[in-house]
Amino acid sequence: MPDRTGRYPQEDEGWTLSSAPGPEHWDDWVEFDAAAWPRKVERRYSLVPTICFNCESGCGLLAYVDQFTGKIRRFEGNPVHPGSRGRTCAKGPATINQINDDERILYPMKRVGERGSGRWVRVSWDNALNDIAERMRAAIVEDRGDEIMYHVGRPGHDGTMDRVIRAWGLDAHNSHTNICSAGARLGYALWHQADRPSPDHERARFILLLSAHLESGHYFNPHAQRIIDAKSGGTQIAVFDPRLSNTASMADHWLPTWPGTEAAVLLAIANVIIDEGLHDRDFVRRWVNWEEYLRAEHPHAYERAQSLGGAAAGSDGVDVFFEVVRELYKEFTPQFAATESGVPAAKIIEVARAAGRARGGLSTHVWRSAASGNLGGWQVARCLEWLVVLTGSVATPGGTNLAAKDKFVAAPFAQPPAQDKWNELAWPREYPLSHHELSFLLPHFLKEGRGRLAMYFTRVYNPAWTNPDGFTWIEALRDEKKIGCHAALTPTWNESAYWADYVLPMGLGPERHDIMSQETAAGSWIGFRQPVLRTFRENRGEEFEFTWEANPGEVWEEEEFWIELSWRIDPDGSLGIRKWFESPYRPGEKLTVEDSYRWIFENSVPGLPEAAAAEDLTPLEYMRRYGAFRVEKDNYRFYEKEVEPDAAGIEPEASGAEPDAPGIEIDGKRLTGFATPSRKLEFYSPTMVDWGWPEHAVPGYIRSQVHWSGLDRDAGDVVLMPTFRLPTLIHTRSANAKWLVEISHRNPLWIHPVDATRLGIRTDGLVRVNTAIGYFVVRAWVTEGMRPGIIACSHHIGRWRLPDSPGTDKWASGCVTLTEQVTGDDGSRWRVRQLEGAGPFDSDDPDSSRIWWTDAGVHQNLTFPVQPDPVSGMHCWHQKVRIEPARPSDRYADVLVDTARSHEIYKEWLAQTRPAPGPDNLRRPLWFTRAVRPTDAAYKIED
Ligand code: SF4
Repeated sequence: MPDRTGRYPQEDEGWTLSSAPGPEHWDDWVEFDAAAWPRKVERRYSLVPTICFNCESGCGLLAYVDQFTGKIRRFEGNPVHPGSRGRTCAKGPATINQINDDERILYPMKRVGERGSGRWVRVSWDNALNDIAERMRAAIVEDRGDEIMYHVGRPGHDGTMDRVIRAWGLDAHNSHTNICSAGARLGYALWHQADRPSPDHERARFILLLSAHLESGHYFNPHAQRIIDAKSGGTQIAVFDPRLSNTASMADHWLPTWPGTEAAVLLAIANVIIDEGLHDRDFVRRWVNWEEYLRAEHPHAYERAQSLGGAAAGSDGVDVFFEVVRELYKEFTPQFAATESGVPAAKIIEVARAAGRARGGLSTHVWRSAASGNLGGWQVARCLEWLVVLTGSVATPGGTNLAAKDKFVAAPFAQPPAQDKWNELAWPREYPLSHHELSFLLPHFLKEGRGRLAMYFTRVYNPAWTNPDGFTWIEALRDEKKIGCHAALTPTWNESAYWADYVLPMGLGPERHDIMSQETAAGSWIGFRQPVLRTFRENRGEEFEFTWEANPGEVWEEEEFWIELSWRIDPDGSLGIRKWFESPYRPGEKLTVEDSYRWIFENSVPGLPEAAAAEDLTPLEYMRRYGAFRVEKDNYRFYEKEVEPDAAGIEPEASGAEPDAPGIEIDGKRLTGFATPSRKLEFYSPTMVDWGWPEHAVPGYIRSQVHWSGLDRDAGDVVLMPTFRLPTLIHTRSANAKWLVEISHRNPLWIHPVDATRLGIRTDGLVRVNTAIGYFVVRAWVTEGMRPGIIACSHHIGRWRLPDSPGTDKWASGCVTLTEQVTGDDGSRWRVRQLEGAGPFDSDDPDSSRIWWTDAGVHQNLTFPVQPDPVSGMHCWHQKVRIEPARPSDRYADVLVDTARSHEIYKEWLAQTRPAPGPDNLRRPLWFTRAVRPTDAAYKIED
């Protein structure tokens, strides 16, 4: 079975999903048709495993394919998937809505008329591919490779695009990460290079969550089920969140911290842990670079520590470090943290003691929330990890591992070499320490004339809607001088595709191949997303050349698109591109997706060939049958492993993988350690010093742009938290899922009764929310589930479409007009007015005539200026806003934005940066990871 040990994963974990059919039944599963009740009508199904694509968790799905009709009837959880263990959230089964969505795009479309005219004509894939290939070939041949950009929201695959972009020899990758998780990533990376945590919630003795991880955190369903399992076993949970989320309501300790003060509370908790002797002194002695810190910043203390034996086993040297730390953080008393955050000091002390007593078993997580809302949010993640380090909970059972240790990325065949280029449109010099591309600033860079794009791909990415400052995006997307050609690769229409030149339909999750692995628990697994109908029909003996032949209409899968495109860019192989897209099994012939995955499963996944052979299957057949494979069960305390005597020396790889682990001498043994310059956990970061931020050399507290001291409450100032997720929706990917939209279709403004009364606001009353660049009008929900002084609005909702043209699915969108008044070279004044909300419409789906809701929500992100943190580059989402009851001329969902003002604010934030070069004329520290990492030479600034 899928485990290397031959057991179902849930058996190992003492759990069974009794109602799920086991794999032995998947070829022919019989059940009664619920719709035929009370008659007993048998239906026969083939169950085909695939992977959900409605968030990043990568849960296993089983598609129930009706053997008689050949159609997918529904989706349920795959019980042998080690991450999700047969369970899904609401969004997994709703995949069937997306497959059957009447408004989905089935054929390639090309615009006619001006960009944004809303007029389209169907074209052949050949025409689209040839035109795009010609543009790309010209850019590559003419050394304009920086004019090609692939901009992805949710990749849904591990490494595929890295390989494609490297094969082109370009630095062409852009992502969404700086509006998502870049803040937390920097905070974690400074400690140990790995930029994400992997909490082992299941075995934790105490769980500390910043934000709503139960219902909407990173890895929703896989984490939520393990948190609840732990809670059922008596583990306590503490949650920081100014909003009474579902997670906070399930917690033992709710700490409604003022946004951006979390680091102050975490430092106070650390102080209590140290003061009360709850810290793991020996772990810190062995694994923290405290000697480096003392030597650099406290030489006298360093000498004293050395005289006490330094970091040697049994010495008292480390106590000198703790003395210095006490002095360093002496202002962070529980009382100070209480004043900053509004959380009572007694509660902070209580949580500190519980966290300290969990010693070795403290599992924690912050992903977006505080780390993505605030100036200095990266310090929140860094301070949270300080608690993990202090309690000796790094990569322990029940502790918090490094994400890279619980995620398995399989190597592809014939990896192209790293590119020797650096694209400053994605990685500008102002942000040498950013943890991902400055993607959301792209239109401002184009406005400033930093470059142009000849060919721009958007993929699972809707920047005009998802990013802040969407009208600046629209101004760039419609300008052919800035973007020569824009191809939106998407299964459904969205607000950005409207301004594209091509809209090319790509398969939904169950209509394409990918491999997935996520750090959902201790240990690692690999999942196989496969096109369900193709697999079903191939199992019955049919043959296909391309996946689109089995998909609806002419819906392609992305990987086949890139293979075809790359062959057309380099038809004779003279550019050196085509060879990377030739089959490893049939030299000189075109690669197929089957070749790709066959090779990976045969060669890159430890244990899989043996497990497959045990069942008389090839590795590919095994993955097609089960959809998932556990690679490693537990990977605790990897840093303590002894290094082989002949291990390689320190040689950071150009591949972007972790540097070779050369080991570090600890207590007389050569151990693996961490992938930092010191090979230890870096409490003290020489990198921050070297790159111009010495005041942030250690974990600390930075007051946010929304600190309470900057508000005039009497004038109506409050803090808007615009980032919270709903468990039923996911960014812009769920508008085509009618079940989900029926559950969630409005985003009222959460406001505490104290604020509502003071400002004359009542539930369902209209409120004008004034931001720095405009305003939006929304309905209020007066609730004690929100802290006074803070308001919140969920970010999923407020989708819109324009009249008389294809657009966002009608289940979820309102029809609006956009009005523009040009105010100068730097921008315009834009107005959105809703003509109608949601309502019944004609389609082949009878449910579309039954829409009972009218609300389609409000698009708030349009009204936010960009606020890039000067260190991490993360957009600081929280807004200082002024609210008032709506004015007589205001209507629900109105939006007004001044893009000239947004460009001014962009410049104000940009002015806070400390640009590269750093030491050795580098653009970025060599030891920092980077998406699609170029050669070391490309890190050097040559001019
Ligand atoms: S948690 Fe994410 S991957 Fe899992 S079922 Fe829900 S949407 Fe799908």
